[in-house]
Amino acid sequence: MSARVIAMDGPSGTGKSTVARRVAERLDARYLDTGAMYRAATVQVLDSDIDPADAVAVAAATVDLPLAMGCDPAQEIVELDGVSIARRIREDDVTANVSAVSAVPELRARLVDYQRAIAEDFDEVDDPHGGLIVVEGRDIGTVVFPSAAVKVYLTASAETRAARRHAQNLELGLPSDLADVLASVQRRDEADSTRKTSPLRPADDADRVDTSELTLDETVDAVVALVTDRIGVAH
Ligand code: C5P
Repeated sequence: MSARVIAMDGPSGTGKSTVARRVAERLDARYLDTGAMYRAATVQVLDSDIDPADAVAVAAATVDLPLAMGCDPAQEIVELDGVSIARRIREDDVTANVSAVSAVPELRARLVDYQRAIAEDFDEVDDPHGGLIVVEGRDIGTVVFPSAAVKVYLTASAETRAARRHAQNLELGLPSDLADVLASVQRRDEADSTRKTSPLRPADDADRVDTSELTLDETVDAVVALVTDRIGVAH
């Protein structure tokens, strides 16, 4: 037997992380944020004073990434060498460089191995969470877990996603310009969907959920309904 994976993919700004966490809590499932893993690798690169565009150096600097990830949707644990970097991975310099770092094939291969190893630890039969794990990212349904029990692809228009990010920034008291935010959303979409290794795209058998017109609660309800429909209520 093995884990039952709920793959949640899609671009940034769809509310994906919040939705994925809340879906995991509702289903009493575990949760893995793979974007946080690419961000952690980016922290390692930046802290080693390596040029994120230098793929050879990035691959070398992340060979033995001392990364530890938690799988509790209620508590984010991301550690590098035993030190929490949960806040650090959300800083602007990390966000600006993560696309370049995550395009390096050697690094992707290692993180994909790690993602599969984490899920392998959980089994449908012995596990108190029924082996259920929500895995959130860009390539989960296409590459990491092509036989996931459920594949959800969250979308929203670039304008909607930029407006949400802009509102978030203002709420956090950060300076924000809507046109700049939209340009940055479009830049990241372009980089993520045109890269050679694991470009962002929905799996052929994914269920698409467009969140442009949905509130967060409505999106969570829609995804929980979809998962329940596909695999029944968990355990
Ligand atoms: O989800 P989040 O915005 O934190 O992801 C940060 C970046 O990590 C993405 O823009 C993408 O470049 C990369 N990523 C990826 N594959 C994943 C998850 C994230 O390439 N499975």
